[in-house]
Amino acid sequence: MSTATAVKIFDIRRNDTVKVMSGRDKGKEGRVLRIFPDEGKVLVEHVMMVKKHVRPNPQRNIRGGIAEQESPISISNVQLVCGTCGPVRIGHELRGDRKVRVCKKCGTTLEK
Ligand SMILES: [Zn+2]
Repeated sequence: MSTATAVKIFDIRRNDTVKVMSGRDKGKEGRVLRIFPDEGKVLVEHVMMVKKHVRPNPQRNIRGGIAEQESPISISNVQLVCGTCGPVRIGHELRGDRKVRVCKKCGTTLEK
């Protein structure tokens, strides 16, 4: 059995602003905190919050209780947000010798 591990290139990158297009948190917008290329998932700020029990640890001054934290969602459930158009499909364009991501609607570059 051969499993070719192709390096997947995702159009979503860290610190992008994305909108959730489906699932429990549909409609939410947030900043991409982390990408998990192998699983095809992203961690988006304030999206898919799950409660986590924290054990008290007096030595480290942790009180314990319930903390909330983000959990990863499928990259296919989010869309990059264009400042003018909202969530859009991403196109690619060559600017000089650099390939940049552009908004498919208005053509603006989506690189920061
Ligand atoms: Zn646009």
